[in-house]
Amino acid sequence: MNLSTPIEEIPRIGPQYQKKLKKLGIKRVRGLLFHFPHRYEDFSNIVPISKIKINESCSIQGKILEIKNTRTWKKRMILTQAIVEDNSGAIKVIWFNQPYLINVLKGGDFVCLAGKMALRQGETYLSSPAYEKLTTYNLQPTTNNLIHTGRLVPVYPETEGLSSRWLRFILKPLLIKLKKEILESIPEKIRIKYQLLPIQKAIWQVHFPDSRKLAKAAKERFAFEELFNLSLSVLRERQRLRKERAIAIPLDLGLVKDFLKSLPFELTESQKKSAWQILKDLEKPRPMNRLLEGDVGSGKTVVAAMAALNVVKAGYQVAFMAPTEILAKQHFKTINELLKKFDIKIGLLTGDEKTEGEVDILIGTHALIQDQVKFRKLALVIVDEQHRFGVEQRAKLCQQKNFIPHLLSMTATPIPRTLSLTIYGDLDLSLITELPKGRKKIITKVIPPEKREGAYQFIRKQVKDGRQVFVICPRIESTNDKRQTTNDNKSSVVSRKSAVISWAEVKAVKDEYQKLSKEVFPDLKIGMLHGRMKTEEKEKIMRKFKQGKIDVLVSTSVVEVGIDVPNATLMMIEGAERFGLAQLHQFRGRVGRSKYQSFCFLFTDSPAKKTHQRLKALITSENGFELAEKDLEIRGPGDFSGSRQWGIPDIAMASLKDMFLVQNSRQAAKEILEEDPELKKYPLLKAKLEEFQQRVHLE
Ligand code: ADP
Ligand code: MG
Repeated sequence: MNLSTPIEEIPRIGPQYQKKLKKLGIKRVRGLLFHFPHRYEDFSNIVPISKIKINESCSIQGKILEIKNTRTWKKRMILTQAIVEDNSGAIKVIWFNQPYLINVLKGGDFVCLAGKMALRQGETYLSSPAYEKLTTYNLQPTTNNLIHTGRLVPVYPETEGLSSRWLRFILKPLLIKLKKEILESIPEKIRIKYQLLPIQKAIWQVHFPDSRKLAKAAKERFAFEELFNLSLSVLRERQRLRKERAIAIPLDLGLVKDFLKSLPFELTESQKKSAWQILKDLEKPRPMNRLLEGDVGSGKTVVAAMAALNVVKAGYQVAFMAPTEILAKQHFKTINELLKKFDIKIGLLTGDEKTEGEVDILIGTHALIQDQVKFRKLALVIVDEQHRFGVEQRAKLCQQKNFIPHLLSMTATPIPRTLSLTIYGDLDLSLITELPKGRKKIITKVIPPEKREGAYQFIRKQVKDGRQVFVICPRIESTNDKRQTTNDNKSSVVSRKSAVISWAEVKAVKDEYQKLSKEVFPDLKIGMLHGRMKTEEKEKIMRKFKQGKIDVLVSTSVVEVGIDVPNATLMMIEGAERFGLAQLHQFRGRVGRSKYQSFCFLFTDSPAKKTHQRLKALITSENGFELAEKDLEIRGPGDFSGSRQWGIPDIAMASLKDMFLVQNSRQAAKEILEEDPELKKYPLLKAKLEEFQQRVHLE
């Protein structure tokens, strides 16, 4: 057996467990060993039985005097009761509903038990402790070979019904056997300079740490490694980009003026500034690498259109990529409208829509890449709300041999500074910092349950006034199918958190649709939208909503990005605690796009303090950047909305708050590349990096 052995071939892992592991994406031994605990239970305090204190975590070691099952009278619950003794005294132990324990633990066995002592009706007992048989016991406490008790015990994210106990049981022998095969890929001098644990020590300590300090050092080592690899990828790509050439697009001032004159509005100052930066970049014979970041509704599309116009009029082509079909179609319409006076051929390419022949601007989804479209004269790629877009991908899109297209990447997802530095390296940034004039502030409110009726009446009034309403629900159906996530866009990913939450209270689109259309607003036109619907169906609904043929649209998070329906003025969000702040802000950005006063109503059943803290932040701040930072602060980066989108590994994500680690890993990456740009001296690192890039899809 080795690190690449498939889990099916590991003894003691039956078909049921194989399935569960696969659901977590664990296919081989390596993946299993790199499945890390998210916290530790401290049972390292081994005390004599006579010294146990009520409600304090501890371990005891002793002999089982007797053990038996009894049945409680009221409930049909089985209690396993035991008496355990050491040389200081004896204690009663009770386990609930684990009758099989009497087959595992027998009178006369020596055990280590870990947990807390409870006091009930004057009686003390050890309540459902973790247990572990001792192989050696001579009345002296032992910590040898313990994995469930008597030490810092790893607790794994309990997803898909995999218990931590089972994982420890499987992991330990594997680690002992295969630890030596895990090779160090961090160059020795980096490892020493930055005081990182060697990998073999780290992998052991991350699972079975000897102290909190070592557990932390181990986690840090792995986080460093991920960030180091990320930085290496980003920096190497930058190196590569420096060598590439691009087509210089002369700035046509007359054309720019004509375009500005054709608009029904005047650009904001930061739109002008961003456009200028982009047009100046395009003039250079070196590929532009620019991120246009602006809050929802800040008007990024116009800026992109202006750049595209310049490129086309210089005789070259533009590719415009959107994350979903709905958005691709919307962009297609918008760009057509914006450039209608300029005699430009614009095409649309999505999963089911193909444009024949030569076009100046081709707008599409990922199909642009998948269909292996080759542009003859591609000079600019615009990507909306995507993750990264590598040099490789850019090169593949065009036929010209010696040039790669300029890249303009747009996002409304505000990226905290630490993150953008690490993910994009030194990508140039254009910021749109203000919204177009005349927009009214969106009134945001948390609606308590008793005011729900009032909110519905408010909806009715908005509709009577000719406005439209969004209702967002966290789920599609109210059944127990965990595969549905709150994020339709990322539907294949089950967040670790969501899997343990009871779904009972979570509002579901289908139920809500039923309720609203049958009971609450039988007289209004209600529509439904979710990620499981067929594309045409979604299109149809969106079109009807845009045309005003639907009054109230009940939807999942599919409407999150970019949908532009200016007549919608009310955004109602059910189960608001289920969404990240940045995401809620995105939803809110769907309204307030016209001269009408807009509203955002938040509903939540969660009494948690954090929830209210977060929702309050949303009420007081309209600034997406600020909210992203706050979200990072309150919820921690693990939950940071968009982390998946950027393909950042969880463990690196969790460390992004640690500026020190981020800077060090970046610095280390620079040092190595300066010394050896091709990593010729570091074949292991090079291989690791390739594997890393595949895993996080940087290209
Ligand atoms: P986003 O940055 O979220 O992609 P859009 O480009 O979709 O924003 O623009 C949102 C709306 O604002 C569109 O209807 C657009 O026509 C309008 N808009 C853009 N710039 C301005 C401006 N300077 N003044 C007024 N309206 C504008
Ligand atoms: Mg947009």
